[in-house]
Amino acid sequence: GRYSKEDIFRMVEEDDVEFIRLQFTDIFGVLKNVAITSSQLAKALDNKCMFDGSSVEGFVRIEESDMYLYPDYDTFEIFPWRPQQGKVARLICDVYTPDGKPFMGDSRNVLKKVIKEAADMGYLFEVGPECEFFLFHTDDNGQPTTLSHERAGYFDLGPTDLGENVRRDMVLTLEDMGFEIEASHHEVAPAQHEIDFKYDEALITADNIMTFKLTVKTIAKRHGLYATFMPKPKYGINGSGMHVNMSLATMAGKNIFADDSDKLGLSEDAYHFIAGILEHAKGMAAVTNPLVNSYKRLVPGYEAPVYIAWSATNRSPLIRIPASRGNGTRVELRNPDPSANPYLVLALCLAAGLDGIKRKLKVPASVDCNIFEMTDEERAASGIATLPENLYEAVQCMKNDKFVCDVLGDHIVEKYTEAKLKEWEDYRTRVSQWEIDEYLAKF
Ligand code: GLN
Ligand code: MG
Ligand code: MG
Ligand code: MG
Repeated sequence: GRYSKEDIFRMVEEDDVEFIRLQFTDIFGVLKNVAITSSQLAKALDNKCMFDGSSVEGFVRIEESDMYLYPDYDTFEIFPWRPQQGKVARLICDVYTPDGKPFMGDSRNVLKKVIKEAADMGYLFEVGPECEFFLFHTDDNGQPTTLSHERAGYFDLGPTDLGENVRRDMVLTLEDMGFEIEASHHEVAPAQHEIDFKYDEALITADNIMTFKLTVKTIAKRHGLYATFMPKPKYGINGSGMHVNMSLATMAGKNIFADDSDKLGLSEDAYHFIAGILEHAKGMAAVTNPLVNSYKRLVPGYEAPVYIAWSATNRSPLIRIPASRGNGTRVELRNPDPSANPYLVLALCLAAGLDGIKRKLKVPASVDCNIFEMTDEERAASGIATLPENLYEAVQCMKNDKFVCDVLGDHIVEKYTEAKLKEWEDYRTRVSQWEIDEYLAKF
């Protein structure tokens, strides 16, 4: 590990940390925390901090509601944006039941289980995400709007890119928190941005994604803006994705997706891994694309995937193989969006890829033309399936994929499908502005 218990006491003492936030993520990818004062630190580090699990959506019933937080010492970090005296730090926690077992509704625990399985096979799962987001103005009450005055596009710079200073501040703050930022740029849509941090082992990356979103939102607020990771905030322009770049390495750190002797420089296992993801893409969609709104992003014309295919040369499919080879050889999955629970996304990606490797699944032929320009008949002839078109379909696909359900476990599948079907029903029965505009005066 990175830190011992003594290290944490020392850092809290030396840095004058007054509050510690014990964080965890609920099933739906929402970050939660409880703050303790440093006087309670010893108790927290001994896994003795309790909370009421029945008040967290998707957790437990009232009758069995006591939950314990087990801090992961290695996640200790001081928030650079809080006061310099009486600082605030955080610890990311695992959730345990009173009888000392990992709680089945804890998504971090689900990811840890799959990582353990990979380790037993001799593999490390390394992941680098690309999180996109919008910066919008807030209204007079401080509530987020979908307004922005800026009109910049891909890779534009100031003064057109009004977000430049905000992004710079975000990058510096993330670096203060130990992130290695590889790139940051204006994205295609007006007011849309992307900041990329370096890949790491899957658990660290999932934790980093949660920290990233909190940091980006916090710094945006300081600049009087609102950062949203909603997948498709505006009709007619690109939505926000969270591409996931993945590779497997040996315990010694050697990338096992690379093979010079292959035409595309990919190993057998890389092909099996791709095949596994393609096989489970539909069943995983309710997790990779968890909102009603997620499916408004996955439509033709906005650089987001619709069809289940892969390519080494083209960005239109679900899976792309970026050009770098050697230790940089990786598989990029393009459908996840940043509203997803990163622990569950990475657990499913790894499990599906390993399933491909174990079953030696054969990868379908790559599709190296623009899939969006093919006719339905051409796609059907090439055996190219489509991602679920809405949240309802995605939930049905999840229920039908036994493998995906087994990875998530009964507790999460039950709570997740129940909540998502309710979300769908709530949406489906509402009358939208589009319907009023289209029909009211006409009929
Ligand atoms: N915003 C696009 C998406 O929805 C991705 C655009 C890009 O990174 N080239 O996935
Ligand atoms: Mg990118
Ligand atoms: Mg991008
Ligand atoms: Mg990308």
